[in-house]
Amino acid sequence: MLKIIQKNANEYTARKHNNITKSLSFIQTNSMESRLKIAIQKSGRLSEKSNELLEECGISYSVGSRSLLTSADNFPLDILLLRDDDIPQYVEDGVADIGILGENVVEEMAKNIQIVKRLGFAKCKLSLAIPKEIDYTDVRYFEGKRVATSYPVILQKYLGAKGVNVDIHQISGSVEIAPSIGLADAIFDIVSTGGTLQSNGLKEAEILMRAEAVLVGNKYLNVDQQAILEELLFRIDAVLGSKGKKYVLLNAPAHQLNNIIELLPGAKSPTITPLAVEGWVAIHAVMNENDFWKIVRPLKTLGAEGILVIPIEKIIP
Ligand code: ATP
Ligand code: MG
Repeated sequence: MLKIIQKNANEYTARKHNNITKSLSFIQTNSMESRLKIAIQKSGRLSEKSNELLEECGISYSVGSRSLLTSADNFPLDILLLRDDDIPQYVEDGVADIGILGENVVEEMAKNIQIVKRLGFAKCKLSLAIPKEIDYTDVRYFEGKRVATSYPVILQKYLGAKGVNVDIHQISGSVEIAPSIGLADAIFDIVSTGGTLQSNGLKEAEILMRAEAVLVGNKYLNVDQQAILEELLFRIDAVLGSKGKKYVLLNAPAHQLNNIIELLPGAKSPTITPLAVEGWVAIHAVMNENDFWKIVRPLKTLGAEGILVIPIEKIIP
């Protein structure tokens, strides 16, 4: 028994030491003025959320409308503002060390870079779409067809693996009009709501890929850059971990405490404090907002009162 306790204590000390070493190395890195360069989209669907994420990580910088490079003043990070298509090459070449872009572009460009973290925004899918009057059965429909797309690599890889030969027409924009002007029989493009397909007389036939924004990195970061990246990832985890979560406070009759705790989803151990009024307690717990709406009425039925729902900015487990 004593041995087990000693072993656990040693492991705990080793882990703690490891964490302290990491933090120290970050502070030393900082003082040596090593910096990491991140490439984000200058203007487009990823820009706002990319800037927002960095800001929520406590990194402050200003972006002028014409500038392509800016620096954070409270974190060792320089920010390059680029077209999203250029980011994979820049990261592969080490011009930027890391970048934020759509997984679809990472896959299409097929550069020697790695996905470091999925970021959960700019979700979309890449689909094959065909004129809506066609009776679609399966992917063999595309054999010998002309397909317009901005994503020839992903398309070829998918259909090639299925043994389907297509005639790919690579175009860079307005892919969805290709069938109506006679340029193609089908398209392969990004779909989010399906509204654009519908207004062009098309329907989704196959979903080839689901994508979201990801953080990518150069494969050969040095020790200092790795330390800055780890600090950034620590902050990103804290920000992403709080998405969709709320801090819920409520007052409840003490005799209903167990029933109420059973209702609380995912709350490992809610905080319970007695109220000044005898027989009443305050309960605090973190939960998903969606779950909150499911349990709010049962909570009321059990006598909960004064329910407060408060936003959470960061969660560090
Ligand atoms: P750039 O001028 O930087 O090359 P772009 O026009 O190629 O920009 P955007 O339309 O801004 O790219 O989209 C950037 C990324 O956002 C896409 O590659 C995709 O990952 C994601 N995205 C999410 N939803 C959509 C959508 N409905 N349409 C297009 N892209 C979407
Ligand atoms: Mg682009």
